[in-house]
Amino acid sequence: MPTTGTIAETTAFERVESRVRSYSRSFPRLFDKAIGATLYDTAGNAYIDFLSGCSSLNYGHNDPDLKRALVEYLSANGITHGLDMFTDAKQRFLTSFERIVLKPREMDHRLQFTGPTGANAVEAAIKLARKVTGRHSVVAFTNGFHGVTMGALAATGNSKHRAGAGTPLSGVTRAAFEGYFGPDIDTAEMLDRQLSDPSSGIDAPAAIIVETVQGEGGLNVASPQWLRKIEAIARQHGALFIIDDIQAGCGRTGGFFSFDGMGLSPDIVTMAKSLSGLGLPLALTLIKPEHDIWKPAEHNGTFRGNNHAFVTATAALEKFWNDDRFKNEVADKAAYLAKRLEAVAETHGLATKGRGMMMGIDAGSGKNAASVCQACFERGLIIETSGSHDEIVKVLAPLTISKEQFAAGLDTLETAFAMTMGAMRLAAE
Ligand code: PLP
Repeated sequence: MPTTGTIAETTAFERVESRVRSYSRSFPRLFDKAIGATLYDTAGNAYIDFLSGCSSLNYGHNDPDLKRALVEYLSANGITHGLDMFTDAKQRFLTSFERIVLKPREMDHRLQFTGPTGANAVEAAIKLARKVTGRHSVVAFTNGFHGVTMGALAATGNSKHRAGAGTPLSGVTRAAFEGYFGPDIDTAEMLDRQLSDPSSGIDAPAAIIVETVQGEGGLNVASPQWLRKIEAIARQHGALFIIDDIQAGCGRTGGFFSFDGMGLSPDIVTMAKSLSGLGLPLALTLIKPEHDIWKPAEHNGTFRGNNHAFVTATAALEKFWNDDRFKNEVADKAAYLAKRLEAVAETHGLATKGRGMMMGIDAGSGKNAASVCQACFERGLIIETSGSHDEIVKVLAPLTISKEQFAAGLDTLETAFAMTMGAMRLAAE
C-alpha cells in the first residue's frame, strides 16, 4: 500500500481492483480521513469536498452527533445485522420518521426497506407499480438517472451506462423532460397527447418516474407546475406517480423532500444516499398504503435495513429536521451559492443550472468542465461533472459547510473557471 498521498502505478488498486472504478481516476490520491467538508490524504493534504459522496454526505463527513450515536450503539453491542426482524434501532427510526417526516406532511406512506443502494429502491418501486397496475411499461424521462441494475438502468437515459447492460433494456418508454425541446414546447402536453391516443404506439404505463432535479442528467430542474401536470397525467392514465428523491432529497434542494410545498402527492418515493446521514448504505421505498400489496418476502434481500444506518439516520432526523432551523440555513447557503455561481457564469458568458444546494455551471463542453474540475483538484477542491456530455460542473457541497469554507471553495472554482475559459479564449484567437 502506498504511504503517501499520491497513488503509484503499482498499487493494489492497479493490480487487483476492477477497471470499473471511476472517481479514483479523477482524484488519484490515497484518502484516509475526513471531517465536515474536508477530506485528507495520507500525505496530510486537505481537500474541500464539493462532491459529498455524490450527495450521500449532505451532513458532511463524520458529523460528531451521528458518529457518537453509532459509537454508543456499537459499544452497547447493538444489533448490526437483523435481516428484516424487529429491532430497537429500526423501531426508533420508524417512529422518528413518522413523527418528523410523515405526520407534518400528512403523508401515510409505508416504509419498505430495500437492499441498501438507490438502485434497489428504484427496482422495488418499479416492480411494485407493475404489480399494482398489471401493466409492464414505465415512463421515464430524457436525462433521467435511476441506477444501474437492470430495471433501474432501463429507466436511465445515459447511453454510456446503458451500454453496460449487454442486453436490450425493456419495459420503459422515454418521454421528454421539461424544457428538453426548449422553453416553448410543453413536454407534459406531449406526453398526455401520446398516452391519450390509442394509436400512438405507447402502451398504458404502470408508472411515471421522475426526478425533480436531474442530478446525473445535468441539473435540469422541473418546475412545480410541470410536475403537477405529470402527476395529473399519471392519475388520468391509471399509472402510479413515482418521485426518485435519491439525489435531490434529504435537504439537497431545501426541504427533506425535494418536492416539499409543491402540492404533489407521489404514490411512491425512493430515497437513499444521505438518508443514513453518515454515508452508511440505507435505501427506502415509500409507498402509499393502498399500493402496499406485496406478499411477505415477495421482494427481499439479505441487507435490507442496516441497523447501524438506522441509528445514524434517526440521529440525523432528530438533529437536522426536528424544526426549520437547518432548512433555513440551507436556504441561506443556497442563495449565496446561486449568487456566486451566477457571477462566475456571467463573467464567462455561461449559464447556471440547478436548484438549492444542487447547482452548477454549464461549462459549454465536457472538455471545459473536465479542465475546470482538474484545475480545482490541483488547488485542493474536489468537484465533479454531470450532464449528457459531462459539461456541467456540479457543486454538491455538504449542507453543513461553514460559510468561510464554502467561500474558499467557491473562490477556487472561480479561479478554475477563469483559467479554463481564459485558455479557451487564447486558443480561439
Ligand atoms: N436515482 C438517482 C436520482 C440517483 O442520483 C442515483 C445515483 O446517483 C440513483 C438513483 C442510484 O443510486 P445508487 O447509486 O445508490 O444505486
